[in-house]
Amino acid sequence: MRSLPGNPTHLGSPGAENPSGVIVSVQRLSTEDGPGIRTTVFLKRCPLSCRWCQNPESISEQSQLQWFSVRCIGCASCVTACSAGNLAMTGSGLSINRLRCTGCGTCASRCPSNALELAGREISAARLAEELERDKAFYEQSGGGVTVSGGEPLAQPLFTRALLEKLLERGIQTALDTCGFAAPAAWEQVLPLASLVLFDLKLMDPVRHRKLTGQSNELILGNFAAVVDAVRLRTRRLSLWVRTPLIPGATATRENLLAIGRFLANSAQGAVERWELCAFNNLCRDKYSRLGIEWDYALTPLMKQEELEEAAANARASGVDPGIVSVTGAARARTNA
Ligand code: SF4
Ligand code: SF4
Repeated sequence: MRSLPGNPTHLGSPGAENPSGVIVSVQRLSTEDGPGIRTTVFLKRCPLSCRWCQNPESISEQSQLQWFSVRCIGCASCVTACSAGNLAMTGSGLSINRLRCTGCGTCASRCPSNALELAGREISAARLAEELERDKAFYEQSGGGVTVSGGEPLAQPLFTRALLEKLLERGIQTALDTCGFAAPAAWEQVLPLASLVLFDLKLMDPVRHRKLTGQSNELILGNFAAVVDAVRLRTRRLSLWVRTPLIPGATATRENLLAIGRFLANSAQGAVERWELCAFNNLCRDKYSRLGIEWDYALTPLMKQEELEEAAANARASGVDPGIVSVTGAARARTNA
């Protein structure tokens, strides 16, 4: 069984004012992860293993080597750079022994065309906050801010807490994008520092949830209730948006959307500002191939516009306030049906 994420001793020293964390990337000028113009920070490590994951490079807490075949000029400098012999040039490109690769990065530093990159870099909360502050003018003009995503931000609670504190000190609004699966102790550390929570509710059936994400949804639903309570207390401004990825054959079923909607209507009516249905997209297929991972959804096309409309209609028929339901993301054109 996996250990519970959010152990405060993990990835960061307790008591340290400026703990370091491991991040994958920083995406500037984003308009998808909360209001206004935002910068989204993607952290490493996630306790779930959703089969449709759009950010496979963020699941493991280890640094992972990514090979960008289009940039590779076949010089084999990397092969000689790896003293452990984990690389070989083959007829179909670079072969990486991922079972033995330690992610030391020596090969990437010798590549003349940046065809090798490590997913995962360590950075202190203060340094990252400084980097994020550079776009403060955009946040202020647009009502935006910084969204901490992943991976799972609550899987590095000390780092996330310190980062949010430092952003608030700089007058920057903060949001958490979470799968919800974290120890209540981690939530207690981090939630008071967020002004928006983007909370994923993927599947209501606990058996299917475990089958498709690797974990039951019991802990997630308990944490969701705690966030709803915090919103209802109204001791400070806290917004809650729910997000459901629309995955064909998995989460996008009428039964599941009705079940999530009924749950929201019964337990969170009035506390949830938006319920976003996020259309499946397959843009991450290249990420899987760079990591040498087969992806179940590699050949799954975008959903049709009418399928998205049907999903929204199912959600609105569930008893939830229909005005909070929206669909985000692209659809296949009707003419391609
Ligand atoms: S990251 Fe390090 S261990 Fe892995 S292939 Fe490159 S040089 Fe070898
Ligand atoms: S060093 Fe870079 S360009 Fe050369 S073979 Fe390796 S990945 Fe390709």
